[in-house]
This record gives sequence, C-alpha cells and structure tokens, in this order.
Amino acid sequence: QPADALTRAESLIGTIPDYPEPGILFRDITPLLADADAVRAVTDALIEPFAGRFDIVAGVEARGFLLAGAIAVAAGVGMMPIRKAGKLPRPAASVSYALEYGTATIEAHDDLTPGQRVLLVDDVLATGGTLIAAHELVAKLGGEVVGTAVLMELEALGGRAAVGDVHALFTA
Ligand code: AMP
Repeated sequence: QPADALTRAESLIGTIPDYPEPGILFRDITPLLADADAVRAVTDALIEPFAGRFDIVAGVEARGFLLAGAIAVAAGVGMMPIRKAGKLPRPAASVSYALEYGTATIEAHDDLTPGQRVLLVDDVLATGGTLIAAHELVAKLGGEVVGTAVLMELEALGGRAAVGDVHALFTA
C-alpha cells in the first residue's frame, strides 16, 4: 500500500532540536535514506505528478542530490547538480540570494539544452529562498522548470507563497 509506505517513510524523518543553531528544528532525513522501502516510496511519490513530463532532475546540494539521484534512476532521466558556490571546475551560471544572515550562492554548469524540462528537488522547503534561486538558475541556463518537489514543507516559514506550486510529500 503506497500510502502506508509513505506514512512509514515520514515517521523515519527525525527532528533534532537546536541544530545547527538554537531555536531551529532540524529535519534529519538520514534514517529515511537508510531504509530501502522508504527510499522507494518517496522516490515514486516525488515523481508521480510529473511522470513523463521532465527530461532531467536538478537536486540542490547536498541532500537534494540524494533524492535527485534516486529520481533520475527511477524515472530514466539524467541529473543536474546545483552546487554551493566555488565547487564547479568549469565556468558556471550563478545566482545569489539572501539568507537570514548574509547571502548564499548556488551554481550549475551550462549543460542544459534550450527548453529542457527540469524537475527541481530538495529535501526541505523552509523560507523558499533556495528553491527560488534554483528556479532562477535553471531559467538562466535556458531550461524550463516543470515542477518543484520536496520531501517536507515547513508551513510556518511561508515558502509555498514565495516559490509557488510545490509538491510536498509531508508537512510540518
Ligand atoms: P530555504 O531556502 O529557507 O527554503 O531553506 C531550504 C534549504 O535549507 C534546504 O536546502 C534545506 O535542506 C535546508 N533547511 C532549511 N531549514 C531546514 C530544517 N529545519 N531542517 C533541515 N534542513 C533545512
């Protein structure tokens, strides 16, 4: 039963208080990743609304990579790593965005073909800043974002209003 498998997968996401800073409830997906049935269930559920409608899956460093890798294999598409600044060996497109304190930059190589349909994935949607920047990055590279999928949406942080339509498997 897929619904049961997803409920079980959700129960495997840990909540760590005061990490990495006081007041933050960190959502730890590593117990879910360690469980084969849970990985299969969330991979299928992340793909489901977009099946057959994307050519490549883009994952945001670092935990988005893990989901994107699984989605790529299951959906039979390639993957595009969206990296933190300064890690790519060739010239890359970059987008900077505001954090609560300071700024962050994400980058990707220009390996998309024009109009390529991209599914964006990450583990957690919080304020939405990261996924908005990722949308912008794909657009800069000439790709078309056809969907955004996350394991968990933190509703109180308002990311959905900022990012727009997001397929979230779990909410907290
Ligand atoms: P944001 O840009 O605010 O939506 O933050 C999303 C990014 O930060 C994602 O890449 C998440 O992996 C990470 N993140 C933000 N808040 C949390 C949290 N409470 N637990 C785990 N990861 C988080």
